[in-house]
Amino acid sequence: MTDDPVTPMMAQYLAIKAQHPDAILFYRMGDFFEMFFDDAVAAAEALDIALTKRGKHLGQDISMCGVPVHAAEGYLLTLIRKGFRVAIAEQMEDPAEAKKRGYKSVVRREVVRLVTPGTLTEDSLLEARRHNYLAAWAEVRGESALAWADISTGAFHVMPCPLVRLLPELARLAPSELLVQEGKEAELAVLVTDSGAALTPLARASFDSTAAEQRLCTLFGVGTLQGFGSFDRAELSAMGGLVDYLNLTQRGKLPLLRPPQREAAGGAMQIDAATRRNLEITAALSGGREGSLLAAVDRTATSAGARLLERRLSSPSCDLAVIDERLAALRFLLEQSRFREDLRDHLRRVPDIDRALSRLALDRGGPRDLTAIRAGLTQARAIARRMLPDAPPLLAEAALALTGHDALIDLLDRALVAEPPLLARDGGFIASEFDAELDETRQLRDEGRGVIARLQADYIAQTGINSLKIKHNNVLGYFIETTTTHAERMLAPPLSETFIHRQTTAGQVRFTTLPLSDLETRILNAANHALEIEKRHYAGLLAAILAQSAPIFAAARALAEIDLATALADLAAAENWCEPRVDASHAFQITAGRHPVVERALRRQGTTFVANDCALTAESTPAIWLLTGPNMAGKSTFLRQNALIALLAQAGSYVPAASAHIGLVSQLFSRVGASDDLARGRSTFMVEMVETAAILNQADDRALVILDEIGRGTATYDGLSIAWATLEHLHDVNRCRALFATHYHEMTALSGKLAGVENATVTVKEWEGDVIFLHEVKKGAADRSYGVQVARLAGLPSAVIERAKVVLEALEAGEREGGTRQKSLIDDLPLFRAVPAQAPKLAPKSTAIEDRLKSVHPDELTPIQALALLYELKELG
Ligand code: ADP
Repeated sequence: MTDDPVTPMMAQYLAIKAQHPDAILFYRMGDFFEMFFDDAVAAAEALDIALTKRGKHLGQDISMCGVPVHAAEGYLLTLIRKGFRVAIAEQMEDPAEAKKRGYKSVVRREVVRLVTPGTLTEDSLLEARRHNYLAAWAEVRGESALAWADISTGAFHVMPCPLVRLLPELARLAPSELLVQEGKEAELAVLVTDSGAALTPLARASFDSTAAEQRLCTLFGVGTLQGFGSFDRAELSAMGGLVDYLNLTQRGKLPLLRPPQREAAGGAMQIDAATRRNLEITAALSGGREGSLLAAVDRTATSAGARLLERRLSSPSCDLAVIDERLAALRFLLEQSRFREDLRDHLRRVPDIDRALSRLALDRGGPRDLTAIRAGLTQARAIARRMLPDAPPLLAEAALALTGHDALIDLLDRALVAEPPLLARDGGFIASEFDAELDETRQLRDEGRGVIARLQADYIAQTGINSLKIKHNNVLGYFIETTTTHAERMLAPPLSETFIHRQTTAGQVRFTTLPLSDLETRILNAANHALEIEKRHYAGLLAAILAQSAPIFAAARALAEIDLATALADLAAAENWCEPRVDASHAFQITAGRHPVVERALRRQGTTFVANDCALTAESTPAIWLLTGPNMAGKSTFLRQNALIALLAQAGSYVPAASAHIGLVSQLFSRVGASDDLARGRSTFMVEMVETAAILNQADDRALVILDEIGRGTATYDGLSIAWATLEHLHDVNRCRALFATHYHEMTALSGKLAGVENATVTVKEWEGDVIFLHEVKKGAADRSYGVQVARLAGLPSAVIERAKVVLEALEAGEREGGTRQKSLIDDLPLFRAVPAQAPKLAPKSTAIEDRLKSVHPDELTPIQALALLYELKELG
């Protein structure tokens, strides 16, 4: 124990910290944000900065670390990425004010913002081409809903969302933070971990639906929400929770959200999390954007266009009218290639209007955000003027939203310089001739500086000291400086009557004079006055922009729409894609289809992609292709390319094919047999079965299902039976369109039994014992799996290959002659015939091979397992 009193500052710190126990507290002290106690220990480790000590509290050393304010953003980002939340406590008054109150007074501090993953607005903390969603899920009396917002762009949406839909929706939106009612977090934690969102529990009161309605009305300044649509209790509750959290984290400074858009369930193609991962829609399996469909097709010129593309690919439409409208715009832009190029030229000069506007609304913006709005609206006007009179509705409507900002553009043009500084507090952003008073004050300030130069010349003449200089620093202000050699003369009369000594340093002596300090005051006053005037104008311009926020957002949205349409048209032209026909039929007819990502990768290697047709019969469902063929033939590529073509078509894009006729797909499913999924480190077979179950329980006759080697995660007969029954179920019960790749050749018999099943195979050629992959998909069944040949390509030693052929022949002969003889066949195999006789050293190790072979049950081996066995045998050898 100790008698150390708690200092007033520490008392203040502890009081603030008590209100934010779950966040790291950034406590502003001059030019630093300091952290104390456990916060300091955690932050020092996370940020890899030095941990120090400062005084004692209740007899214990106080741990402390700090980051400079000017570099705080970078540290913030690291902390947020590592899963922390940060409360920022700023000094709310000048330290001089506090001193006036008395010797023991502490500067007033308040938390001005709580930084969490879902509430970032700084450009440096955000990815320009990605949304940063904050989501809230609420349940009220059996109904449930999901609301999500991006406070950096103002987007705000809500939809009904039962618990079973939560995971797929989280996979679609990829929010960085999910709010749920306190007490539910444990139950939801598993779901949310998979989606990568941080889970934040909120008090019950935050989700109260009556209070929610009130909160929303206040936010949008309306008396009732009816103008925005009708929302049920759960939707209100989810939106209310979200808005309350924004209140909490932004400390009352509410972001500029657009009125909530209600998304109807069923408006978009349903794609679950596993399918998204598997098809690598917005992220590759390796985790990054590179290698994904999104990266392969993104030719947008603006960040907002890129974000719109990600939204479209994440939720392709199920509305034929919407799809047609988007395709019509592409058709037009493809015909008008000069016009398209012209548009793209302008679009390249469009900054991120959404994010600039959102920052301005939260008072976190600066002069460059004002010029971003100016540049964006100027380009918008130019694009509207260039819009062709016969443009289709999507483009014509967008163009309408781009106009009507002439007065604002004119104001910003007159008011702002071309390239303003980053911060408003530095001044220098208001153009000359905008305000006569400002011009005059600036003249005074600058003239003062001229007068100083003249004063210096006068003093040199008066003293005869040529090296005399008038300088400026932050401590002394303006001063006269000479070297010590001349000092004696200056300190003696008559010069000492004019020059007043201020400071002596190692080599210099510093003076001031009455006219100099007079001048200094005038310069300072003029500079401060100019700054005051600029700040006043900043506030005025800000208000003028915010008054127009709704139409500015609308213009930004329209620009993104035009950007996306021109980008997709550009892609279609460059890659020779075709316009898909999407209708209400159950057709799935693709000619010469390609996989956009694989094709790109092959092109880089100088190889061409082999285009393939896929014709699931048009007239009736079900329509299933059972695809067989050796490993590496191109089965997975073929399966995925067809899923991606359907997805692109319904997103409103042209597709990589010569022609495509697609009956509306309402659900897209894709699964891969377990062993491809090893990287995720789960009990793979179980996962595979759970995921397959989800398909069989959900797919309807508008679903498109892609199954790649289902059943391979278990023993042969188990796997075959499961694959067999799955296919039958898809055919008889789900009655959907499906592509089913398998290595169980036995299943090809199903095409004779089930009317909707056809066999197809990826062809290979055998040439001098080698296999050549042709990558051509043809009707019919593969005759064998060429596992041994593939193993040879992979570089297995020839002794092992030769040996494998002998084993395979024996196994196949055994199969023909019935199971009873197999054991003895294996026993009879002349084990070392393939090994050169002059290798006696191998003999003792070979016993292990022999033992292992004895334990093999050939009946239960798939070709792949046989290959794995070969690897194992090689190890033993
Ligand atoms: P499988 O699923 O049959 O094992 P994949 O689909 O994984 O085979 O394809 C193996 C490799 O073959 C791919 O990485 C790709 O490089 C190449 N490939 C696949 N399909 C084609 C094609 N249509 N044209 C050219 N190369 C292809």
